[in-house]
Amino acid sequence: MRGRRVIPVANPDIGEEELLNVIEAVKSGWISSKGKFIKEFENKFASYLGAKYAISTSSGTAALHLALLALGIGPGDEVLVPDLTFVSPASMVKVVGAKPVLVDVSPDYWCIDPLKIKKKISKRSKAIIVVHIYGHPAKMDEILEIAETHGLYVIEDCAEALGAEFKGRKIGTFGHISCFSFYANKIITTGEGGMCVTNDSELAEKIEILKNHGMRPQKRYWHEVIGFNYRMTNLQAAIGIAQLNKISRLITRKREIAKIYHEELESLPNIVLHPEMSWAKCVYWLYSILLDSRKTRDRLAIYLKNHYVETRNFFYPLHEMPPFKIEGDFAISKSLSERGINLPSGPKIDDDDIVYICSLIKRFMKK
Ligand SMILES: *Cc1c(COP(=O)(O)O)cnc(C)c1O
Repeated sequence: MRGRRVIPVANPDIGEEELLNVIEAVKSGWISSKGKFIKEFENKFASYLGAKYAISTSSGTAALHLALLALGIGPGDEVLVPDLTFVSPASMVKVVGAKPVLVDVSPDYWCIDPLKIKKKISKRSKAIIVVHIYGHPAKMDEILEIAETHGLYVIEDCAEALGAEFKGRKIGTFGHISCFSFYANKIITTGEGGMCVTNDSELAEKIEILKNHGMRPQKRYWHEVIGFNYRMTNLQAAIGIAQLNKISRLITRKREIAKIYHEELESLPNIVLHPEMSWAKCVYWLYSILLDSRKTRDRLAIYLKNHYVETRNFFYPLHEMPPFKIEGDFAISKSLSERGINLPSGPKIDDDDIVYICSLIKRFMKK
């Protein structure tokens, strides 16, 4: 028997490098949103992706809000959003006064389905927010083609998939603006934090102004537009740099974790394993499986919880929740939401723990 040590769904890998950077930031006296680490983090992040501009923010949600505002999206506009996602992108569409138009997802890789996007485009459509869910990239070539044909902006929500690739190119480099989150359980963390990435200098400048009270950088306390305080602190950026320095190790670890789950579970019938399409490099933000029904999924969650293994159910489909409630054909997102479960995937999990979790799943499935 194991002791009563809970295996968490996700725990960050924070160590000496992060600590040393934070100490340096504290000793420098620059603990707020000025200081050398901020620009350094932004520059390193941009060059990691191969993008021109990276603008740090206080969260991934703030980054999405800024992206929508910078693109001028507001009342009267529609923005296509996947029905299966963390809520932020849809909430921010509402916050700017636009209407989220929900689109069902692919049964094969769980992201927004290009074929279904086409059916939901109207004269009011302004943008598509693509969410690379649970670490798997969306089908960017088809989405970009649709966007171009219909004159739509593309915002990539990369909060769950930093480092993932579509046909060998990193996600976050396809859209007009891409948004990242550095919440504690994401691929890299700054505690709380986020980033907007773009190749467009005008958009970069707009985001920079909006995140800093709408103030003109060259003319202090001159406010041309209504803005926000969505700034990242030097302390957060100090942690972010240390995290970014080890990103390839973190992603390699994520993929190792997925491989162990895969090898342990692939012989089980009635389970669908986390996909990785031939055109994709998945970073398995949270390694996930699908069971045959909601009942089995819910029972498995309880069984694992009773054995001190923390899990998480897939997101509820947006179309079922009060702020976004709408009728429509969301058969896939509904089914995934009912059958999907996220398993412990933090980079610090032991291999033995993964094997143990899989043995529990096997035992459960025999019953
Ligand atoms: C985590 C997440 C966000 C929000 O990030 P925060 O930094 O927590 O605001 C946005 N979109 C998706 C898909 C996420 O998973």
